[in-house]
Amino acid sequence: MPKITILDDALINKIAAGEVVERPASVVKELIENSIDANADEIVIDIKDGGKSLIKVADNGNGMDKDDAKLCIERHATSKLSNVNELSSISTLGFRGEALSSIASVSDFSLITKTEQVIEGTIIRVEEGKTEIKDIGCSKGTVVEVKSLFSNIPARKKFLKSIQVEFNYIANIVTRYALINKDIFFKLVHNDKIIFSSQKTDSLFNNIVSIYGKEIASNLVKVFYESDYLKVYGYIGKPALTRNDKQMQSCYVNKRYVKNNIISNALYDAFHTLLFINRHPITVLNIEINPETIDVNVHPSKKIIKVFDEDRFYNDVFNAVRQSLYTNNLIPDAKLDDTNYKDNRKYPLQTDKQSVLAVEDSPVKKKQTEEKTSEKIGPFLLIGQISKTYILAENNKGLLIIDQHAAQERINYEKFMKQYEKEGIKTQKLVKPKVINLSAAESGVMEENINLLSKLGFGIDNYGNNSFILRTTPSIFGRVNIVLITDILTELSGISSKSIAKAKEERIIRFACRKSIKAGEEMTMPLMEKLIEELDNTEQPFTCPHGRPTAISISLPELERKFKRVV
Ligand code: ADP
Ligand code: MG
Repeated sequence: MPKITILDDALINKIAAGEVVERPASVVKELIENSIDANADEIVIDIKDGGKSLIKVADNGNGMDKDDAKLCIERHATSKLSNVNELSSISTLGFRGEALSSIASVSDFSLITKTEQVIEGTIIRVEEGKTEIKDIGCSKGTVVEVKSLFSNIPARKKFLKSIQVEFNYIANIVTRYALINKDIFFKLVHNDKIIFSSQKTDSLFNNIVSIYGKEIASNLVKVFYESDYLKVYGYIGKPALTRNDKQMQSCYVNKRYVKNNIISNALYDAFHTLLFINRHPITVLNIEINPETIDVNVHPSKKIIKVFDEDRFYNDVFNAVRQSLYTNNLIPDAKLDDTNYKDNRKYPLQTDKQSVLAVEDSPVKKKQTEEKTSEKIGPFLLIGQISKTYILAENNKGLLIIDQHAAQERINYEKFMKQYEKEGIKTQKLVKPKVINLSAAESGVMEENINLLSKLGFGIDNYGNNSFILRTTPSIFGRVNIVLITDILTELSGISSKSIAKAKEERIIRFACRKSIKAGEEMTMPLMEKLIEELDNTEQPFTCPHGRPTAISISLPELERKFKRVV
């Protein structure tokens, strides 16, 4: 066994950096938190190459005097805590005193700072482990510059993703802090281009409007809830405005952006049946709670918190969201209206095979097709629809249960591919072009893929300032909802920008086909018949383009076995 040795400071800092600084966005998060703690009301974040070459955060906060400036880059140097008892009542965003020392140990680091009281400020440079301190003329506040992040840890550097992906992480974290801090002006610049700025406003709602745009904001409802344990306030998206990922879901505890399962469970449980599977509500929700009832010190990046009374916390957050959905009439009456149900089903459910087949002149039409391969549906007899989701029919093998959305998806997919490969996509011009307001991160993805989208029939112009205009859509989709476009962007942001265009195309098409379909649509009998006919004419009627089944069939022998008719 080798002898135990004490690690030197440089190495300890590097190890700590591994926990605090995972990627450029973590640096941005720590620096923004410091600026907020320093009471800044202007924070400008200037990024080059997704943060790989430069991260610069400038604030107009309290600044530091020379002695503090010297100390701040030491490990465990913090002004936010002076004894261990305070740890439980911490109300600032920082307190561990390891962010700056960690960041400085894995980059070329400089910090310029000045307080109100002094004339001259201080500049500190840390490069290759050497620290240099000088006086400098500057204004009140602090500017931190982080260059060549991870250049001394090649393994970390290699692990970073593309510039666009790293920038997306940064844009997301800046957006999150900008959303909840209405009293702070934020500006985010990437490669000399202003990505967004959020003015100081007097209301949280106006702040959200300035960041997410009017369209999203108009679909939000207010949450305000108070108990003797906590207070919840903010906004949640109406169930009609959900997303296919959680990028627009921001929850804060005492204005600290956190990821917490209890909040998440309470939120999804409160929405419950109002959400389709894999859809996520938009939220900007802050929970104000006595800091002594939580522990924010369970993770170096402080994004995860521990709540001591989990049940109470869950209940209050659940009630807060539920109450807001109720008062805004967003929870429909769950009772099934019997009369309605029967009225809509004009055709009686036929259970006896012989009686169905005997009725040749019944309104239930029989369909004949030539080919009778095992993969085809063939002649069928329509029975009806259940739960606005499944179509029941009978063919020569037995009972068919068709998932109407999966079927529509398959039909649209094949139509789209045929047009795309042979004729070119037919587009329809929107009478009134639609404005799409995007978040900074989405906007980057849009710019990167705008040509590809137009090739696929979505004609989009860049309007500047994260706004785009949708002018044409592929005709086969009928009416296109803007949510489809933002969903496609989310789907694309998960694909590395190096992916070949072909793979991206394929994914957009499959995705668009799936999303172009409305859920829970009631269908008339002729429409259902048309759907089954069209499905049968596709090359693969039994699977949707995502590989799920479009139809399952229960054979007569199987039914007989189930009813124990077989002796
Ligand atoms: P922590 O935030 O946990 O205290 P940091 O390493 O992030 O630790 O910062 C160390 C100290 O440096 C802070 O406690 C604060 O006193 C000072 N500091 C850091 N950034 C700023 C800033 N932007 N403005 C004023 N003081 C700052
Ligand atoms: Mg800090």
